[in-house]
Amino acid sequence: PLEKISAQHRAPVALSYELFPPRTPAAVDGLWTTIRELESTNPDYVSVTYGASGSNRDTAVELLHNLLSQTTLRPLAHLTCIGNTADELAGIITELLDAGVRGILALRGDHPNDGTEEHPAGALNFAQDLVELIRRVEQRRSAMLAAGKVAIGVAAYPTTHPESPSQQHDIEVLLAKQRSGADFAITQVFFHPEQYAELVLKARRAGVSIPIIPGVMPFTSLRRLQRLAELTGVQPDERLLAALASAGDDAERRRIGVSATTELAKAVLDVGAPGIHLYTFNQHQAALEVLDRLDLVRPSAPTSKKRQLGAKTTLDSH
Ligand code: FAD
Repeated sequence: PLEKISAQHRAPVALSYELFPPRTPAAVDGLWTTIRELESTNPDYVSVTYGASGSNRDTAVELLHNLLSQTTLRPLAHLTCIGNTADELAGIITELLDAGVRGILALRGDHPNDGTEEHPAGALNFAQDLVELIRRVEQRRSAMLAAGKVAIGVAAYPTTHPESPSQQHDIEVLLAKQRSGADFAITQVFFHPEQYAELVLKARRAGVSIPIIPGVMPFTSLRRLQRLAELTGVQPDERLLAALASAGDDAERRRIGVSATTELAKAVLDVGAPGIHLYTFNQHQAALEVLDRLDLVRPSAPTSKKRQLGAKTTLDSH
């Protein structure tokens, strides 16, 4: 059995989802069906991805605005710093805070692989620099108005970041992000519970005390798993790949994927994970099936369409 990473009783377990801004006008309706379905499960927050160098900045900001004005959901805005100066980023952070966003996932972003990368003078190099910048912008603002603390999340890697020389280096980077003001971390996709448990145990020994929330993806699409490996270097489980490849149809692939994802999520919750962050790929069915099978203890869903002010959430309490 895996070593427990926390002996404390945890209830309720934190729940969150990742969405990406619609890439075409035709994708908007489907996304809103998904948003409404996810909203009914009363998640702690919903994260919205951001293209490296701000390639989808307008649609990301529009989606954040719409989530705030038309749903009960609390958005967590992803923000990447690669290729942007501190001044540019301070402008974007201010825009997000002005819109009512109170949670930011501070990321570096990936280097473009087409050789077009630009390094403007004063560009930020690492996520840690972005965490520091968000805290500086927040401090300047809170001198003017009592806006409440911004929750800052950062990325963590159960299978080691592809550019990193070692897991120990990754953990030192995570500790540096915590010291700069990060409140919690969300992990990259992984396939084996021991990868998550090992990261958390080593991180705790090194002094990382922030919650490390496992990022879990419904493993229902072979193509998506292969693309994931290309983009992130995370190698999918071979047996899962083989099972998906030999499945007769989409229904069977869904059954296999949902079972594998549920098993992984159960295993990490059993060793003490403080919650689950589901990568939805803007589709609710598989994510909700996983959730159903997990039997999570959740507070009941709010009845009002408007957010309940003062309601305590995991983001608030970090
Ligand atoms: P960092 O923490 O800055 O680390 C990047 C690399 O630099 C690592 O190898 C690290 O070891 C090294 N490093 C960091 N600090 C130092 C230092 N001080 N000295 C030496 N080396 C250092 N990408 C997007 O473009 N948009 C998104 O919306 C997005 N969302 C994501 C959500 C999650 C939960 C995760 C896990 C990843 C996401 N990514 C996203 C991908 C992410 O941008 C890439 O993984 C990127 O390559 C690294 O980002 P980071 O924030 O971990 O960078």
